[in-house]
Order: sequence, then C-alpha cells, then structure tokens
Amino acid sequence: MLQVEKVSVSYGSIRALDDVSLEARDGKFTVILGANGAGKTTVVKALAGLVPLRQGLVRVDGREVSSDVEMRPRLGIAIVPERRQLWHDMTVEEHLVLGAYRSYSGWQKLRRTLTREVSPRIEEILEQFPVLRSRFSQRAGTLSGGEQQMLALARAMSSGPKMIVLDEPTVGLSPLMVEGVFVNLQKWTSTGGAVLLAEQNAEAALHFADYGYVLQQGKVVAQGEGAKLREKGLLEAAYLGSGDL
Ligand code: ATP
Repeated sequence: MLQVEKVSVSYGSIRALDDVSLEARDGKFTVILGANGAGKTTVVKALAGLVPLRQGLVRVDGREVSSDVEMRPRLGIAIVPERRQLWHDMTVEEHLVLGAYRSYSGWQKLRRTLTREVSPRIEEILEQFPVLRSRFSQRAGTLSGGEQQMLALARAMSSGPKMIVLDEPTVGLSPLMVEGVFVNLQKWTSTGGAVLLAEQNAEAALHFADYGYVLQQGKVVAQGEGAKLREKGLLEAAYLGSGDL
C-alpha cells in the first residue's frame, strides 16, 4: 500500500499541495481527480521525488520513504510520467528490457538473467498489449500517441512493480484508446497491484476506479468509492468544493 500523509508542496510562494492525505491500496484502482491546476501532477512529482515535500510523509507498505526517493522503486513503485517520456530512438523491445532493470542489481546480472527471467515477463506483457508485439522492433518516436502510451504503461509493468502511479495517461487519446488504458490498469489491479491514477477525465476514470479523491487548489475536497463519486451531482459538487462524500 502507498500512503501520502499530510503532504504539502510549494513552488516558491505557490502552495501546490496543502495537507494532502491519500492512499492507494493493493488490488485497488484509485484515482486523483481535479480541474487544471488542482495539484494532480504535483502529487505524482512528489511521489517520483521530483519536488521536495515541504511537510508530510510518504509510506510504502508501512515503511517511511519520505526522504529516500531511491528506495521507492526498490519497494515496487513505478511512475508513468506526464507526456510519457519515452526514448524516441529506442525500440519497443529496448524499452521493455530497460523497464525490467529495476528488478536486478546491475547490468551484468540483467544480461545473464535476460533469457531466463525477463523474456517470459516481456512475453506476458505482450499478451496484454498485443499492439506492441506487432511494433516490437519499431522505434518509440515513430509510434502513434496511443501506442506510445501503451508502451509507457508496458515499460512500467515490465519492472514487476507492486504499485503504478500515472499522470494523465489518456491525454490526447481516442475514447477507444482511453478505455484500453483503463482496462489494462484494471486487469493489473486484479492481480493484486495498486494503481494511483491522476486524471482529468473524471467520467471515464470513475467508470473503472474503486476509490477516488478530488483535489481543488491543492486540497482534497472530496473522496469516496468510485460508484459513489459517479452518482449524479456529487462529482460536480465535489469540483465546486463540497466536503467528504
Ligand atoms: P493539469 O491538469 O492542468 O496538469 P494539475 O492538477 O496537474 O493540472 P499541477 O501541475 O500539479 O496541477 O499544478 C498545481 C499548481 O502548482 C498550479 O497552480 C500550477 O500553476 C502550480 N505549479 C506547477 N508547477 C509549477 C512550477 N514549476 N512553478 C510554479 N508553479 C507551479
């Protein structure tokens, strides 16, 4: 389980997160919703260690890692950043092999275990993302937007994580591709993994989410089970700043 406890983050004088607490449980699909500028990306950046915590704690399976950013991937957190951040000249295969790197203590070991361990895992991932199989030797920069998003997600999964944190993975995707991304994430949670998804597309995300938090100006203004947040009127009220649901 991933826990964020009373976290505040500032950019200079701008308070982007103010006393935010949330958690992503194993086997659950959790979403962070909110309008532009609400603080969703800042939550992901704080978890990736890209912005310092002004106050508060981050815990992974009960272990405090607030000041130990390097420990987080070792404990099983994979981040899928905004705009995917793929290596444009590298192939699909190379992304998936490099994604698996976290699981091994070094390159030499990775090479030795490549055939034995990484290949079956990549095979499993290709089962889940058939479009990547047909693009296996293609450079990432030449993939479509949707294919690139699938690759970013597949790369995160290739590290064998326990938790995946994603920042708006559906930006610019067709409704069909959006559904494809969410279906893959939901399938993955059914194997016990925890998903924490920052998303502006509330309607689509809540269709799949078990639990949601709504951020407004850096504060959690509402939270509840996905189905409850989906109820007519409640989400709109939450966006306008009501209390807990
Ligand atoms: P969007 O959906 O538009 O991406 P968001 O919910 O992800 O928005 P954040 O990007 O986390 O929001 O931004 C939260 C607040 O912090 C906003 O007011 C934004 O202007 C501010 N902010 C973000 N990054 C910086 C920065 N590098 N310097 C100054 N202010 C920033």
